[in-house]
Amino acid sequence: MTYTFVTLFKNLVEGYFQDSILKRAVDSNILNLNYLNPRDFSDSKHDKVDDTAVGGGAGMVMNPQPLFDALEYLKSDDENVHIIFLTPVAKPFKQNDAKRLAEKSHIAFVSGRYEGIDERVIEEFADEVFSIGDYILTGGELASLVMCDSISRNIEGVLGNIDSLSVESFETPLLEAPSFSKPQVYKENSVPSEYLKGNHSKIRSLKLALSECKTKFFRPEQLLKHRTRISYEK
Ligand code: SAM
Repeated sequence: MTYTFVTLFKNLVEGYFQDSILKRAVDSNILNLNYLNPRDFSDSKHDKVDDTAVGGGAGMVMNPQPLFDALEYLKSDDENVHIIFLTPVAKPFKQNDAKRLAEKSHIAFVSGRYEGIDERVIEEFADEVFSIGDYILTGGELASLVMCDSISRNIEGVLGNIDSLSVESFETPLLEAPSFSKPQVYKENSVPSEYLKGNHSKIRSLKLALSECKTKFFRPEQLLKHRTRISYEK
């Protein structure tokens, strides 16, 4: 998988790949990283990339020219590149999207700054637009890293143990059951005794019950989905 980050602030993105799982994936060429700075494509005298909003309104908007030229350059290099814009004005990014996008060969993440990107750029180049949640960030870099991290986990060879994926939250409507590590008793608190007895069918039932409790408390709408699915399967 190749990721191209279209950003004014490459430094904000690069650091994330300098440690742990994604560093290993880059070192073993499972992931290739590219960066494109719209400022390098600016026609203006001082490499400007933003201007005041036409029609009024607070703040600056990223102008079309540098981004048009950067994205045209990107597409001329790889016509299969899948271009994603990060913006709060979009569908929410979900685990299913991460799995689906892991099948692509090249994804470009376009990060906005200031009050966002001139809509004509999005209309012209977006294959998809995503929001990572109902809050406003100062720029799209963090959002693109969130997506990139989550997509990468679903690419073969990135995770040491592929089984980790199948039991995670959002693989089913239920959130994951609580996990415990050693020691079995820590500061007088023991892990649930059923976890210790080695009866795997009982452990599975307990984990399912605990998953349901967590989901009911934190995400009741997901529990409803789970119950609907179960009654449909019956
Ligand atoms: N004026 C915009 C609005 O109200 O929708 C917010 C612009 S925000 C300050 C600057 C940039 O941060 C956006 O262009 C986008 O790339 C990124 N951004 C902010 N919040 C985001 C979110 N929840 N999901 C994805 N990207 C986001």
